[in-house]
Amino acid sequence: MQISDNFDSGNIRVIDATSPDNIQLEIKHDNQSEFFQWFHFKLQADISADNEAVEHVIHLNNAGKAAYVEGWEDYQAVASYDRDHWFRVPTSYDGEKLTITLTPEYDSVYFAYFSPYSYERHQDLLHSAQLQLDCRLQVLGQTLDGRDMSLLKIGEEGEGKRVIWLTARQHPGETMAEWFIEGFIDRLLDEDDGVARALLNKAVFYIVPNMNPDGSVRGHLRTNAVGANLNREWLTPTMERSPEVFLVREKMLETGVDMFLDIHGDEALPVNFVAGCEGVVAYDERHKALEDKFKEILVAITPEFQDERGYDKDEPGKANPTVGTNWVGNQFKCLAYTVEMPFKDNDLLPDYSVGWSDTRSSLLGRDFLTGIYHMVDELR
Ligand SMILES: [Zn+2]
Repeated sequence: MQISDNFDSGNIRVIDATSPDNIQLEIKHDNQSEFFQWFHFKLQADISADNEAVEHVIHLNNAGKAAYVEGWEDYQAVASYDRDHWFRVPTSYDGEKLTITLTPEYDSVYFAYFSPYSYERHQDLLHSAQLQLDCRLQVLGQTLDGRDMSLLKIGEEGEGKRVIWLTARQHPGETMAEWFIEGFIDRLLDEDDGVARALLNKAVFYIVPNMNPDGSVRGHLRTNAVGANLNREWLTPTMERSPEVFLVREKMLETGVDMFLDIHGDEALPVNFVAGCEGVVAYDERHKALEDKFKEILVAITPEFQDERGYDKDEPGKANPTVGTNWVGNQFKCLAYTVEMPFKDNDLLPDYSVGWSDTRSSLLGRDFLTGIYHMVDELR
């Protein structure tokens, strides 16, 4: 038996992997940070002498000290034999350890917190997009590990055209965010899609599919190469600590923003929801009307979205100004939403085989395009 995390977004430390019925592992912290929860590793399975399948019991010993322990309640880990289809595997949590049990059907199996979105796939997404007539691939600058901060501009600016920004994966372990973006971009670039064509007549899109490529490759949950939580850096970002936010913010100040969606995953809540910027100084009746309408439309479009459960609302003036959605919503006085998808499942429409998944995230991204189509005229 062998366990490895020596690959893109790998994260595990082996404590003891001598006996398949008691494999002891730990999740590594984000670099220079206390946060941890994302795991991703490969198991070369033990096969018995008579070639019988062997049950493997894997304990993540430090799960009880992870960033969001509520995330382990009713959570099932994902596994894959072909690194394409990820299925849920029996998982339990005793308040201390997370225990995954699987009798592998093949020699090698990957496990992860959620379906990974690799750096190579990220590059494929950017470079296939740039082939489309309406799309430009821009590099805003470099991260601390020397990766590109890549931006897709889709559509053309023009008189009266709305400027719509999407960012994803400020928190790199929230891979569903980039799956969402992939679906969104696929649809927006589809010349046969009337909604996309109508939208591009009225708006130009700036999309950052991965706000935190360093954290993604390093296998982090929440921070960049030096332990900065990018979604707490929007008020005073610096090139030394948070170039990712600094560069995107500069570009936003140049283009202006009429609507902002910042795509995330939530460890605990088993539903899709949005969180607005109701606590910022600039928040007013128009803000609220736009928020309410957008939520209403999303509820009407898809049963994967709901507005009953979500985060507690901020009191007026009490919003944390370092959060991306709050900074953008206040600065540009525009509709600004944090979009949250579950790591677990949408319990209103559960799928016991895959849970909330890469495919469902992409489909939700496509549906959000319809939501924006219904809002676009009112965004300014
Ligand atoms: Zn997040």
